[in-house]
This record gives sequence, structure tokens and C-alpha cells, in this order.
Amino acid sequence: MIKIKGKAVSGGIAIGKIMFLKKNEIEIEAKHSENERQELDRYRQAVEKAVLELNTMIAEAKANGREDAAEIFEIHQMMLFDKEYVTEIEEMITKEKWISEYAVEETSKKFSQAFLSMDSEYMRGRAADVMDVSDRIIRLLSGGIEEDDRIGLDKEKIILCADDLTPSETVRLDKNKVVAFATKGGTAQSHTAIIAGTMNLPAIIALGNDLSEEYDGMTAVADGVGGYLYVNPPLEFLEDAKERCRKEKLKRERLRQLKGMKNITEDGREIMVYANIGTPTDVDEVLDNDGGGIGLFRSEFLYLKCKNFPTEEEQFNAYKSVLKKMGDKRVIIRTMDIGADKQIDYFGLDIEENPALGYRAIRICLTRREIFKTQLKALFRASAFGKLGIMIPMVISLEEVLETKKIIEEVKAELKYNKIEFDEKTEFGIMIETPAAVMISDDLAKEVDFFSIGTNDLTQYSLAIDRQNPQVEAYYNPRHKALMRMIHKTVENAHKEGIWCGVCGELAANLDMTEQLLAMGVDEFSVSPPHILSLREKIRSVNIKKITKSNLDIL
Ligand code: PEP
Ligand code: MG
Repeated sequence: MIKIKGKAVSGGIAIGKIMFLKKNEIEIEAKHSENERQELDRYRQAVEKAVLELNTMIAEAKANGREDAAEIFEIHQMMLFDKEYVTEIEEMITKEKWISEYAVEETSKKFSQAFLSMDSEYMRGRAADVMDVSDRIIRLLSGGIEEDDRIGLDKEKIILCADDLTPSETVRLDKNKVVAFATKGGTAQSHTAIIAGTMNLPAIIALGNDLSEEYDGMTAVADGVGGYLYVNPPLEFLEDAKERCRKEKLKRERLRQLKGMKNITEDGREIMVYANIGTPTDVDEVLDNDGGGIGLFRSEFLYLKCKNFPTEEEQFNAYKSVLKKMGDKRVIIRTMDIGADKQIDYFGLDIEENPALGYRAIRICLTRREIFKTQLKALFRASAFGKLGIMIPMVISLEEVLETKKIIEEVKAELKYNKIEFDEKTEFGIMIETPAAVMISDDLAKEVDFFSIGTNDLTQYSLAIDRQNPQVEAYYNPRHKALMRMIHKTVENAHKEGIWCGVCGELAANLDMTEQLLAMGVDEFSVSPPHILSLREKIRSVNIKKITKSNLDIL
């Protein structure tokens, strides 16, 4: 057996035959054309055909409820008309008199190289989009293999392997045939990786040249959790993997039957089970898993994806798309939590000795108000399109909350003055993720509409465990009395003021802790989308009244 290590970007385990994707290997000659006018027409006709092909693909994706895929194809359509890209190609055809195929290929190389040399992982991921669009034009110019014939084959399950997959190759994978994919290259931020996650397809990227084409046709096991590809495994290993697959499938089927059911305990208490997301495209998975709302949208990911500060308009569009998709379900967007482990060059932050205890989150917002106000304006404008809650991270004092409320009033006044619509009922809440916030949660509760406990940071700060340091991981104890008491105190203080209290850290998805959290009175659990239904199942099995005091660490 050959074991190859890569990077897991989408979970699950799958068994299949390795199959390398047949690329459209069209030989492109560096040739001059005889008539540049005719050559330009030929190029423009190929672009028209590409538009039609993409139109069909967008319609198909929408019909299958794949809004994420449709959005990508729409971006590809826009790329076909990108001014710089088109000018470059057309000048090569008309001024330098190259044939269209060569002009498109050279321009594609130049643009994708430019993307690949950028610092941002997200922008590097865009290189695949340019190549995808260009390959489509080249295929149409030279009559290459039709898209659907490239992943031909029988009923056998395939682990599709490639140097890299383009987004359109990924979304067109037939899930009945392709059970996983594995690539030599790729980045976790690429659309390809994002789509694999939402398709729930095990995927491993960055396997490097160890993923040899010699393995074509061999049986393999793709482990999308550990990030390994096992080629030619022995029989016992295969049997073991089959058993894991079977168990996973049974579990998924059982859980899907809970869709549409309430998150209600045996003794009748209804709990809000919401989802944590990082990007607007994650909403599809939230809806597919029947999430009751979004409890934490980590908005800093929008900033992390950009090369410069995202504009108010860009942010507005992102927030609006999430709110519209979620309809009347609550969407809580956390204002940017930059700093600590989430560093961004264009913020120009100093290097700090202890970044986790440093200049981050609300501390940046309250000192660099122009950045904060831009985000708040975008958020309030988006509030007109759904049910929005705004939440601030890393609070340690009442003053921070009062100051934020003041800025919010200024933003609302500006919007009113400019006659821009927003929702006056937009909720305002805070994350409780520092021991200081816990200790003054009675005062804080008087000023906000809800609390959401960030147990990841609350554990880090109360147990003095750097969450980035694997050496102290052994000290991480989510059942620590200190933490339990802090959660309990926070919930009690929230309830005294008549506001709800949720948990959005990883602890919320730990099913061994569900009883304790319910017994403490937690009203909302916010977890990553694949955990929603298993948590629903757990909640439905709990009878809070029967949880004895001795079962609770805190009492
Ligand atoms: C937390 O700290 O628990 C939390 C949810 O926020 P993040 O993990 O983004 O710091
Ligand atoms: Mg946090």
C-alpha cells in the first residue's frame, strides 16, 4: 500500500478507482494568422459560444439548487468580458497578428501567473478561474473534447485525480460516479475546495508529485478527514474503510430524517440551533442541514480574502446575499475580529509579543473608526433584507459597549439623513469570551439584546492556554469547573435581564456537553453546518428536568 499525505479540505471517507482527468490536450502552435480581421471574428464567435455554454450551466446549476455553482459560472461570464483580459487578447490578434488560440493561451498564462504571485491565498485561487475560462475558449476554437465526455466511464466509483481541478470541473462532477477527489496542487481557499465542502465530497489537495499517473486504474481509499490517499490497500484495510463508509452513510441517512423537526427537549424546551459560517457561500450548507439561523458569521473572512479593505458596497452585497437567502431566519454577523491569529498585511499592524492579548477585534474598531463605520454602514444597509443581529467580539468593558452603541447611533443617523432604508429592529449583542466580560455580565446584559459565549477564547483566557500552541493542548479541558461556572453565571445574568444567551464556540458542538449546557439554561447553540442535525438528535433525547445535580460539574 502507498500512503500519500496531502491537505484535507472536505471530510468523509471514500473508496474507488483512481482516475486521472483527461485534460483537453490541444497542441497550440505559436503561429501568425493570415487575416487578422477574420481571426478576430473567430475569437469573438468562440466567446459568444462560451457565453451560451455558461448560460446553460448556470440554468442547470440553479435548477439543481446549486446557487454557489451558478455564481461561479456568472463570474466566469464576467471574466470573458474583463476589459484588460479582452484587450490583451485582441491586441495580440490584431496588432501582433497571432492566431486566437495562441493569444488566449498566452494571456491566460500571464493573468494566472499574476494571480499566483499574489500574497493573498484567495487571489491565488483565482488563477484556476482564469485558466478555466481560457481553456473553454480554446476548446471552442479548436474543437476539443466535449466537457461531459471527459469524465466518461462505467458505473465504477471514481476517485478523480488531477494536477488541479478548475471550479467548473469540480461542480460538474457526477456524484454518482465520483466519490472523492485528489489533486497534486490547489489551495484551501480556492473555489474548488469551497465547492467540495458544500458538496460534502471527501477531498484532498496538495498531494504533490507523489500522486503519480502510474496509479491510474488502481483501487484507493481517500481519507478526507486525515488528508491521506491510500493507494492499492490490502484487503483488511479495504474492509475496514468499507465499514467506516457504511457507518457514516447510515448515520447521515438517520440524521436527515430529522430535517424539518424541532430542536425540542424531551420535556418540551425549544432550543435555537444555529450555524457558524465564514463566507456567504456557506449558507447553502446551512439551509441543506436545516439550520434555524446563523449564530456567527465570522465577517473577518471577507477582509482576509481581500488585498485591500473591502469597500462598503462589497460588504453590503455579501451581507445582503446571506440575509436574503436566510429569509426570515435570524442572521448574526460578528464585526471583524482581526488580530491575534488572523493577521492582515493591509491593516499595517505592529508585530506583537503576545498577539492574543494584543491589539485585536473591538480594540481596533474603536480606535480606527473609519474601518468600523464602513462595516457598520454596510451591515445596517443590509439589515433591510432580512433579520439581522450585529455582535461585537472580545469585549472586556461596559465602556466598549456604550461607545459602540454611540457609533451605531451615528451610523443610523447618517443613513436616515441620506434616506437609506435599514431595519430599526436590528439586534445588538456581544460575545462573552473574556473572564472580564463574564464578571460584569450583569451590567453588560442591561445594554444588549443577546449574549453569545465564545468558548474557544473564553477557555484560552480563563485557563491561560494559548489556543495556537499544540504544546499546551493537553491542558485544554472543556469540562473545567472554572469554565462551567463562567457559562452558568453568564446565562443567569442574561436571563435576569430578559435576554437570551447562546454558545458559539466549539464546545457547542460537543455532544458530551449538551446536557450540561442545557441544564445551565443555554438558549442557543451555534455550530458548523454538518453538526446541526446530530445536535438536534441529541437535544431531542435530553430531559432537562431529569438531569440531577450530581451530573453537573458546576453545582
Ligand atoms: C470563540 O472564541 O469561541 C469564537 C467563537 O470566536 P473565534 O473562534 O472566531 O475566536
Ligand atoms: Mg473568539
